Amino acid sequence: MIPPAPPADTTLRAQSPGDSAREDLLRFLDREAAVAQATDGRLAVLLVELRRVDRLQALLKGPPAAITISLVLERLRPALRPDDRLAALSEEQVCIVLPRLSHPTQAVLAAVKCLRALDRPIAHEGGTAVLRPCVGIATVPENAADPAKLLMAADVARRIAGTREEGYHVFQSDDSIEAEVYHGLDIDLQRAIRANELEVHYQPQVDLHTGAPVAAEALLRWRHPTSGQIPPATVVGIAESTGIIGSLTFWVLNAVLRNAASLAKEGITPRFSVNLSTRALVDAELPEIVEQALGTWNVPPEHITLEITESTMIGDAERSMAMLTRLKGAGVQLSIDDFGTGYSSLAYLKRFPVDELKIDKLFVSGLLSDRGDHKIVRSVIDLAHNFELRAVAEGVEEEATRAELARMGCDLVQGYLVSRPLSDRDFRAWWSAMENGR
Ligand code: C2E
Ligand code: MG
Ligand code: MG
Repeated sequence: MIPPAPPADTTLRAQSPGDSAREDLLRFLDREAAVAQATDGRLAVLLVELRRVDRLQALLKGPPAAITISLVLERLRPALRPDDRLAALSEEQVCIVLPRLSHPTQAVLAAVKCLRALDRPIAHEGGTAVLRPCVGIATVPENAADPAKLLMAADVARRIAGTREEGYHVFQSDDSIEAEVYHGLDIDLQRAIRANELEVHYQPQVDLHTGAPVAAEALLRWRHPTSGQIPPATVVGIAESTGIIGSLTFWVLNAVLRNAASLAKEGITPRFSVNLSTRALVDAELPEIVEQALGTWNVPPEHITLEITESTMIGDAERSMAMLTRLKGAGVQLSIDDFGTGYSSLAYLKRFPVDELKIDKLFVSGLLSDRGDHKIVRSVIDLAHNFELRAVAEGVEEEATRAELARMGCDLVQGYLVSRPLSDRDFRAWWSAMENGR
């Protein structure tokens, strides 16, 4: 027999992280999963992870977990339908059950609404904190019919969601492997940061007008004891999903500035570019982290360029604008990385206080063979100059490409032609050799 749907007045009543709300929710899930199975209906489970909940709690007085969770539930409630139910599973996780859906995309829409609802800073007793939520989604009948398996699938999706820019992920059948890999690595990464096991390599940039070395991009390297080199994008993904991107950014910045300070003693003063991930850029504390690191190593701020990608800026233009303005106020330079692959509009370029456009290597590699790529590179260089910005071409592998970029008036080049990314020792030697040879 199919159990009846709950009366409307008992919905959305989970208020605290207490056991009873959680138990109620799980019973509701059992019941509605059975309904869905018996009627060929559809149901979704959303697992919302509240990364950085510790910072929110640090601001709160009184019983922290209960207050935090009630603030979060208050935010989420208006994003849901009256028949949906939610409860905290722990201090860092909220589970939402969406019964009787007519289409799987409704679950995604609900996830997006929840993310939006939690994206604004949460204020309490004069303090504010920004949560970094991510949402895993699993559905009946696509992923599982059994509630326990459904929750497991949502949990796997939640971990993957943390690595995705959009902040949500719908469980796919081959996700479990990805999640397992991540699961082991995230613990190792925290250890690696603490144990100083990561490294920064430096890829030089050369001035196309004078041929002089002027700058270098800092690129993260992690040689895992058993898995070998882990690509930096994966490392950043793990750090974002586990909420330690702030520590990673701090670590990279300090490593770069320590190196800059040491090189400066030998009269070597390149400008260093540091990549910032999307989630690092929305961390309200980033400007302080940058200023603190600059102060510690006594490096002039204009010797540092922070690279951000286009999608980061467009995601939440107002917030990005405020953050970039604060970073600019700290005196550092700003660059838009992988320019051309996103959706920048002229309006953004006019408004954002950037100093440099980096032409994506995709277009640079096609410069001599593809007329479309040639036009894009030409347009980006012109665009940069019209806005009085530097144009940097990355991924330059051939002399003919370099020569064409020089002819087109591009300002800087970076790529295997000039040098592969180098360890700090090799970079120092490379730079000295370049300066001595000139
Ligand atoms: P990106 O910032 O666009 O960095 C350029 C990538 O192109 C680097 O890959 C570099 O090694 C590679 N590259 C440079 N010259 C050439 C070339 O001539 N040909 C080819 N085929 N490739 C070239 P890498 O080091 O694997 O980094 C990949 C991405 O990982 C970076 O893209 C950046 O988005 C991210 N990343 C690296 N380090 C960090 C970091 O410290 N923090 C953050 N948030 N992201 C990082
Ligand atoms: Mg970059
Ligand atoms: Mg790039």
